Amino acid sequence: MDVQDLMKKATIFHGHICPGVALGVLVAKYILSLGFEHSPDEELVAVVENDNCSVDAIQALLGTTYGKGNLIHLDYGKNNFTIYSRKSQKGVRLALKSAVFKDKKLTRDERVKKLLSSNPENLFDIREVEFIPPERAQIEESIPCEVCNELTMSSRIVDYQGSNMCIPCYKVMKK
Ligand SMILES: [Zn+2]
Ligand SMILES: [Zn+2]
Repeated sequence: MDVQDLMKKATIFHGHICPGVALGVLVAKYILSLGFEHSPDEELVAVVENDNCSVDAIQALLGTTYGKGNLIHLDYGKNNFTIYSRKSQKGVRLALKSAVFKDKKLTRDERVKKLLSSNPENLFDIREVEFIPPERAQIEESIPCEVCNELTMSSRIVDYQGSNMCIPCYKVMKK
């Protein structure tokens, strides 16, 4: 897929055209160009350091999704993206270094256009990183909270005065 097709696919998922999605498209395009393939299962893992529009392009184009557990969000407020491939045992990190993404002199459309025609190597510091992806998502038993009765993953159950409680109920009881 060329960059325009990737942008189309990402935009359908995201809902609108914006510089954030264009930035994510660039990251995905670069990753796919390395031979990493879209991930139907957990073959790829993405670690993103922001929660802006760009992450939707990563999800749509690389198959690293919140629901599959192969998208990890670190709340650092940085446009940095690390992608691991379990198949090739490789990790690549892209860290944004250019201001094009937020260049106020350009209109929104111009920023999108400029981003899509950019060479990722000019926008990002790119380096290989050691292959240390987060563990695969675990399938876990759910048990009912003794207060609200809602089924809750056992690792998220808190023991409060001998009762199994979900986190929101525990927060209420503790007050
Ligand atoms: Zn957006
Ligand atoms: Zn509860």
